[in-house]
Amino acid sequence: MKNVKTFFIKTYGCQMNELDTDVMAGMLKNRGLFQVADENDADLLIFNTCSIRDLAERKAMGKIGRLGRMKNRDAVIGVTGCMANAKKESLFNKLPHIDFVLGTNNIHDLNNVLDDVLATKTQINRTDGRFEHEIDYLGASREDKVKAHVSIIRGCDKFCTYCVVPYTRGPEVSRSPQSILEEVKQLTQNGYKEITLLGQNVNSYGKDTPETNCLFHDLLYQLDKIPGLERIRFMTSHPIDISTELMTAVRDLPSLCEFVHFPLQSGSARILRKMHRMYNPEQYMEKVLQFKEIHPAVVLGTDIIVGFPTETDEEFEMTFNAVKEIRYGVGFFFAYSPRKGTPAIRWQDDISEEVKQVRLQRLSKLQDEISKEQRSDMLDTTVEVLVEKISIKEDHMLKGRTRCWKNVIFPGTPDLIGTLQRVRIHSYSHQTLIGKIVN
Ligand code: SF4
Repeated sequence: MKNVKTFFIKTYGCQMNELDTDVMAGMLKNRGLFQVADENDADLLIFNTCSIRDLAERKAMGKIGRLGRMKNRDAVIGVTGCMANAKKESLFNKLPHIDFVLGTNNIHDLNNVLDDVLATKTQINRTDGRFEHEIDYLGASREDKVKAHVSIIRGCDKFCTYCVVPYTRGPEVSRSPQSILEEVKQLTQNGYKEITLLGQNVNSYGKDTPETNCLFHDLLYQLDKIPGLERIRFMTSHPIDISTELMTAVRDLPSLCEFVHFPLQSGSARILRKMHRMYNPEQYMEKVLQFKEIHPAVVLGTDIIVGFPTETDEEFEMTFNAVKEIRYGVGFFFAYSPRKGTPAIRWQDDISEEVKQVRLQRLSKLQDEISKEQRSDMLDTTVEVLVEKISIKEDHMLKGRTRCWKNVIFPGTPDLIGTLQRVRIHSYSHQTLIGKIVN
C-alpha cells in the first residue's frame, strides 16, 4: 500500500450520514490528507452507506464491487455507515478487496483503523453495537456556510417493523446538553444562521439520560437563548413523542421554525399496528388538532409508506384521505421494500410493484395539488427568507427558504447570502415561490 495523501468520500442516505461524512472528512483533513472530488485521484476511498432501502444498498454494493474488479492500484477502501453495522465482517466475503469496515458507532476511531490497516495490511472490522463515545463534531468539515446539521441523539428504540435502524445504529444514546450547546454556540460564532438538530427520533432526546434533567423541549429553550442563532429545525420525529411541551415551544421560541416533521406512515389502524407505530389514526389526528390549536401557523411534513404487506385498496384510501384532510406542507412517499433483519421480512411482500407505483403516483399528485394551493395562498404575502445561495437555474437570482421550508427565489446579489430578508411573493413555479426583496 502506498502512502495515503488524498481521500474521497461517497455518501449515501440521510442527513445523519452526511454529518458523519463531514466529521470523518474533518478528521482526515486534520491528519493532513487532502480531499479530492474524483475517486480516481484518491489514495483512500470511503463509502458511507445506507441500509434503509434495498435500492440504496444495492447501489453501494454495485459501486464498491465494480471498484474491486477494476482494482489495479493500491488505494485503501473502507465501508462505513449502516451497511457496515448491519453486515460487519461478512462484507469481506462479498467485497474481498475492501480494507476496513467501520460502524456508525465507531467513526471517532477512523484514524486508528486507518493506521492499523496501513501498518498490518490486514482487513479490519470495527463495529460496536452501542454508541459510547464523544465524536469530534467541532472538527467537522462542513461545505455549507449558512446552515449546519447538529447530531443530538443517535440510535432508535422504537422498532418499527419495517426499519433496520434499531439494528444498525443501536439503542438511543443522547449527547450531553453541554456538548450540543457548545457546538451550536461555536457554529453561530462562525456565522451559521440555521441549525437542524438531527436524530432518528429527536423527540426522545434526554429520556435515556434522566440525570441531565434535559428533555428535548428543555434543550430547545436553552438553544433559543444563543445570540445570533436565527433558526432551529429538527428531524426526524416520532408522533408518539411529540409532547404538549414541544408544541408550546414551537409556538413560543422565536428561533424555532414552525415546520415540524410528523410522519404518519399509514392512515389505517391495522397497518399502523402491523408497522408497530404505537399510535392509531385517531390518536395521530388528535395530536395534529392539538398542535394546530396551540399554534395555528404550524406546517407539518410527513413520510408515508405505500404497499406495506397486506395493505388493501381500502386501507390505502384511508392514507390518501388523511393526506387530503391534514394538508401537509411536505410529503415524502415511499414504496415498501423488505429489509433483511427486520420483523416485516417474515411477511410476504404481496403488493405488486405496479400497485405500489399507482398508489405512490396518486399520493404525489395529491400532494402536488395541495402544495400548489399553498403556494397560491402565499401570493402577495411577505415572508422571511434565509438566503442560502445563488440560484443555479436563474441568472442574478438568489435562493433561500421560508421558515416553513418553502423554496423562494428572488433577484439579489451574492453578498446577501447568509442574511435574513423579507421577500414579497408575486408568482410561483412548479416547486418554487418567486418574489422580490422588500425593505
Ligand atoms: S422511529 Fe421507526 S422508522 Fe424511525 S428510525 Fe426508529 S424504528 Fe426506524
